[in-house]
Amino acid sequence: MDRDTAMVSEDWAVLDDELARWREAGRSATFWWRDDDAVQRTPALERLLGLAREFEMPLALAVVPAAAQASLFDALPESVCVLQHGVDHRDRSSAGAKRSEFPFDEPADAALARIAEGGARLARLAGARWSAAFAPPWNRLPAALAARLPAAGLRGLSAFGARACAYPAAGLVQVNTHVDLIAWREDRGFVGVRSALAQAVRHLAARRRGEADPDEPTGWLTHHLQHDAATWDFLARLLASMRRDPAVRWLSAQPLFAAQQT
Ligand SMILES: [Zn+2]
Repeated sequence: MDRDTAMVSEDWAVLDDELARWREAGRSATFWWRDDDAVQRTPALERLLGLAREFEMPLALAVVPAAAQASLFDALPESVCVLQHGVDHRDRSSAGAKRSEFPFDEPADAALARIAEGGARLARLAGARWSAAFAPPWNRLPAALAARLPAAGLRGLSAFGARACAYPAAGLVQVNTHVDLIAWREDRGFVGVRSALAQAVRHLAARRRGEADPDEPTGWLTHHLQHDAATWDFLARLLASMRRDPAVRWLSAQPLFAAQQT
């Protein structure tokens, strides 16, 4: 084994060790996979769908409704479902504020009407693949607007980071992502094996210790249009190695976002 290979194996051992703890506790670590910014069939999207097909992995494709082409939904692999990624993905934040399609100063009624219209378009285009869940661009949405998503026909919300609660509002279940493969604040390339797996292990360990909601599956967030070779390599290795691990269960987004508070 050369030095680079040894270092990469050491990086992966961190995840293996954490999964061993889940196995010892007789628990399965649950994962899910969300990919953002789909609007049309590009070579990058075909590559992504190819991975979902090859590894029979459930994939939640977060689609921008205003820009989505009808052909995007043709012959999607069995394991793919569709989430709503904003409406037009335009940054409406004021100068100096963090980027958001839904800034706090936009009247909520207007924002909700846009969201409902976008969701209706996706429901029509995606048919049975529609999962009626909303993933806001840049993972930002005012809480007051999130609470009104059910009035726009949405029953799910997905942002980033360990969720504070499973049901932030009546009729709304939240399932976030926790591992971002892209180094947005640096060169917008791959964050690296060590960082990606550290993010995953951080959430898994917090769940295991009860410091985060143990029932929230750890979400892997990808952006197919942004992937460099290292990101694709990592993703393929992750899916291949985790597919057969008896300590891991990959969940489909449709039942996750159909869950109801009991
Ligand atoms: Zn996006």
